Amino acid sequence: MPALSRADMDTTCPPCRDFNRYANGGWLDSHSIPPAYSAWGSFSELTERNREVLHGILERAANDKSAPPASDVGRLGAYWCACMDSAAADGAGARPILSDLEAMASPKDLPSRVASLHEQAIRALFSFRSEQDAGHSDWQIAAVSQGGIGLPDRDYYLRTDSAGVATLARYVEHIARSFELLGDPADRARAAAEAILGLETSLAKASMTNVQRRDPNAVYHKIAADSLRRLSPTFDWSAYLAARGIASLDSVNVAQPGFVQVLDGLMSSVPLDTWKSYLRWNVVSEAEPMLSAAFADEDFHFNQVLSGAEEKQPRWKRCLHWADRDLGDLVGQAYVKQQFPPEARARALVMVHNLEAALGDRIQALDWMGPETRQRALGKLHAFEEKIGYPNTWRDYAGVTESRTDLVANHLASAKYEAKRNLAKIGKPVDRGEWSMTAQTVDGFYSSSLNSINYPAGMLQPPFFDPSWDDATNYGAIGAVIGHEMTHGFDDRGRQFDSRGNLADWWMRDDAARYKERADKVAEQFSGYAVIESLHVNGRLTLGENIADLGGVVVAYHALEKALAARPARRIDGFTPQQRFFLSYARMWASLQRPAALRTQVLTNRHSPAMWRVNGPLSDLPEFQQAFGCKEGDPMVRPADLRARIW
Ligand SMILES: [Zn+2]
Repeated sequence: MPALSRADMDTTCPPCRDFNRYANGGWLDSHSIPPAYSAWGSFSELTERNREVLHGILERAANDKSAPPASDVGRLGAYWCACMDSAAADGAGARPILSDLEAMASPKDLPSRVASLHEQAIRALFSFRSEQDAGHSDWQIAAVSQGGIGLPDRDYYLRTDSAGVATLARYVEHIARSFELLGDPADRARAAAEAILGLETSLAKASMTNVQRRDPNAVYHKIAADSLRRLSPTFDWSAYLAARGIASLDSVNVAQPGFVQVLDGLMSSVPLDTWKSYLRWNVVSEAEPMLSAAFADEDFHFNQVLSGAEEKQPRWKRCLHWADRDLGDLVGQAYVKQQFPPEARARALVMVHNLEAALGDRIQALDWMGPETRQRALGKLHAFEEKIGYPNTWRDYAGVTESRTDLVANHLASAKYEAKRNLAKIGKPVDRGEWSMTAQTVDGFYSSSLNSINYPAGMLQPPFFDPSWDDATNYGAIGAVIGHEMTHGFDDRGRQFDSRGNLADWWMRDDAARYKERADKVAEQFSGYAVIESLHVNGRLTLGENIADLGGVVVAYHALEKALAARPARRIDGFTPQQRFFLSYARMWASLQRPAALRTQVLTNRHSPAMWRVNGPLSDLPEFQQAFGCKEGDPMVRPADLRARIW
């Protein structure tokens, strides 16, 4: 994303009619989606730039023959060699996973087989991990959650529209073909695939929807470990825990008790052969993209249904994705050394502080919030833990040995390291310095249970943030992103956590009611946006993100006004600083997306499609209307009684 350019705009479209078109029309008309991608936009431009940097780092590590095998460079180099060796992968066929395909002799073996898959980060039946205790945020507890399905969301199994039915049929075909690649006869492969779909559909029906799961109280049921055994007496939890190396367990959060009960019923109703096929499928499907070309192509062809991409990404890009997953902190350390000097961290911190001050001003000025809630909101804001760039302590992968020839073995070694690290936290105090995103990631996030705002180095880069730009352009882009993450602390979900990250109600009743009224308007607004044919944005699924977008752009705008008061700016290229701010905000969301990917996003993703992240929030803002002289009745001016405004 270069600084603003008129060539990216379509000035024949009035800004008050369709601002996304006005700001991004030139860009949209002059770009197309590369065949290996499902979408292309400003975020991709930044991601691609980072990929080139990471590619160089890994190539250098692979060529450094003097690095000891157990050193950071040695581990990265070996991983990269093994990953890039497509001839070795093709020669090995299914061999890397054969030992994991061993069948169970009796249903009694199921708990220990599921445990052995979970130990390698392979999905099966449910998820079992440590998590921060939502009620006592200083401690880690064990958590059992719904899981075990191969499609992106439970709704995929239950849709009856033609696209939904076609996707299910393709999924069964994909399972069957994968089994055939393992050498199964076609009729047996097909029968196994049908049975797996039946089992996964039972799990899907018992699962909460993605909207239900957004309610933090609905997924918090802390019970004694003995109660888990009573809730689900047929599944042998003791055998499962023993196989995972957990000798004793006091309590556990059962996120979806109903799901666990249904799972228990399946123990006696599902035939042994179906269990065998199901576990086998989970092993194959996890490894498939990393196996020989025949397997990887099968995996890609099925995923095309969900992404619309026309060709596979080149091997080095797939390898980067896996290196990020398997040795993320080693990659991150090298990335930060090269791309994120201490001055960059300091500069980003100044910007974060300016945004925090602006959000504080907004909270002070709210006319709908009473004094008690206001004080607590400010207290929460001031307690934000700021995580900028990279963690203070990096994971060291001690004990992980990298082969120079076997990618799957390397992946499983890392998966085991991570699963063990995760379970070791149960019953221990929370490490508040831990990061859950790698430093090289092009994204940011807010953690409600840590009350932390997180901005990885991967995002704090030109061309997203460039010290050579004018304030208006920087505040409209990275400023709005920073404000977005902060506002998550006060979105419909985040506001239910206190300043230490406990799930605790700190709102006065009237203030909470007024908040909900405003949030409902945001939900209604976005549910009104049609995306493809009859498919609309899900205003409830995307509510937190839309509130964060709306808050982020308001907070960044007012932070800019403060900066301009201290350091006035002139028009540039005919645009006022305020206009440049909104143009820069919109430019960040310039994006093209294939219909399949758009459909997948609307069904599964908490974020609204890009054009509505521009036109949605801006049509609510008098600040925007003033900047471009929009009038009542213009499409970019929502009628006053429908307008959403929280901050
Ligand atoms: Zn967000």
